[in-house]
Amino acid sequence: MKSRKTIFAVLTIASIILIGTIIFLLWLIPAIGLVNIHPFLPKLGFIAVIVLLAMLFLGTGILTYGIISGKEIAFAQRLRGIVMKMLYPIIVMIGGIFKISKEEINGAFADLNNQLVMSKQRKMSIDRLLVLLPHCIQYDECKVKITGDIHNCAQCGKCEIKNLDALSKRYNLQISVATGGGLAKKLIKEKRPEAVVAVACEKELAMGLKEIYPLPVIAIPNERPYGYCINTTVDVAAVEKAILHFIK
Ligand code: SF4
Repeated sequence: MKSRKTIFAVLTIASIILIGTIIFLLWLIPAIGLVNIHPFLPKLGFIAVIVLLAMLFLGTGILTYGIISGKEIAFAQRLRGIVMKMLYPIIVMIGGIFKISKEEINGAFADLNNQLVMSKQRKMSIDRLLVLLPHCIQYDECKVKITGDIHNCAQCGKCEIKNLDALSKRYNLQISVATGGGLAKKLIKEKRPEAVVAVACEKELAMGLKEIYPLPVIAIPNERPYGYCINTTVDVAAVEKAILHFIK
C-alpha cells in the first residue's frame, strides 16, 4: 500500500514538472513579442507564471507530504478535485512511459482518494450512506437473485454476500449490488446518497470516482482469486471501517 502511494506521489511530481514546463514555455514564447506592446507586459506575465508555478508546486508539496506521511492533508477536497480532473490523465500517461501498469496506478489513485476523503470528518445518518457492490462478488453458481435485494441471500456462506448482508442488517444500511458502472451511476442518481462506499476492481473504481466527483467515496478494490469478474471477494472489515468513517 505504501509503495503504491509512493508511485503515485512520484508520478504526481512528474506530472507537475511537465505542466510547469508547459506553462513556462507558454509564457516564454509570446513574452519575446509582448515587449513590443508594452515594455512592462513581459514582467507582468513573468510574475503571473511564477505565482501559478508556486501554487502548483505548493499543492504538489502538500499532496506528496500527505501521501507519504499519511497525515491529514490541508485543502484535501480541492486537491482531490484537481487530481481527478487535471492530473489523472497525465499521471496515467507518464506511468505508461515508465511501464507502470494501469491497474497499479488506478489502485494508487483509489488509495489517494480514500486518504483525501478520510482526512475530512463527515458524519451522517446511516440512511444517507450507500454501499455499492459488484455483482461478481456473488458465488457464480448461486441461484439466488441479490441484485434487487441483498437480503435474499440464503446464507450458505459460499461468498462474502453472507457477511455483507449481516453488515447491512447490523447497521440498518442500504447495500446495493450493481451489475456494472452504468447501473451503479443510476443507483446513485436514484438514491441520492451523501456518501458512498464502493467495492469494485481498480479500473471501475477509478472511472466511477471521476464520474461521481464531488460525491465523497471510499473506494475498496476487490480481491480476485479467480481473475476478473468471477467469484471475487472483499475485505469485509475494510468495508465496515469505511462505513464507520461516515456514520454518526
Ligand atoms: S452466501 Fe448468499 S449470495 Fe453467496 S452463494 Fe450463498 S446464498 Fe448465494
